[in-house]
Amino acid sequence: MKNLQITAYTQHFIRQQVMPGDLCIDATMGNGNDTALLSRLAGEKGKVLAFDIQEFALVHTEERLKREKCPENYRLILDSHENMASYAEPETVSCITFNLGYLPGGDHHIATKAESSRRAVESGLTLLKKGGLMTLCIYSGGDTGFQERDEMLEFIRELDPHQYLVIQSEYINRPNNPPIPVLIIKL
Ligand code: SAM
Repeated sequence: MKNLQITAYTQHFIRQQVMPGDLCIDATMGNGNDTALLSRLAGEKGKVLAFDIQEFALVHTEERLKREKCPENYRLILDSHENMASYAEPETVSCITFNLGYLPGGDHHIATKAESSRRAVESGLTLLKKGGLMTLCIYSGGDTGFQERDEMLEFIRELDPHQYLVIQSEYINRPNNPPIPVLIIKL
């Protein structure tokens, strides 16, 4: 793993998954870390759809993608990730990434919510093609609370084992409710 950020684990699998030409979704754009990664991996012939409900995130991410000279293969969308099925066809997406919680340095009240996140994951799973990967980084505690974490874990634990492989990992030596990385592979 090349970096020591908390998202390094899920990004490691994203790097293995995304091939040039792939269609990818960043469900929680924020400052655009994952959007930039997906854009570079998908390349000129690929496409990235990135969602956020904060205008600020779109402005910031666009600046970043331009500054980092990412391929112009992205569409930044001011909409809730619950609506992602309006922007892509079923079973066409190689990789979808969720980084749940609030934007560090932003308004902590504008955070992902249990009910809409569950609907977004459900919707994203219909868009994933077979062999596609969904990653989740589930933050909890502090201003975020535990409802979203608990409901999300309950939901993914119940996914049909004939259709999905679900892997939950744990940062076992980190204090204070470290984020929980999850991989979901569509079989
Ligand atoms: N991956 C991001 C990055 O690289 O900076 C960090 C994402 S941050 C933890 C979570 C983001 O989800 C926030 O920017 C927040 O505005 C966004 N968000 C909250 N509810 C959302 C929703 N319903 N649909 C899409 N984005 C949402």
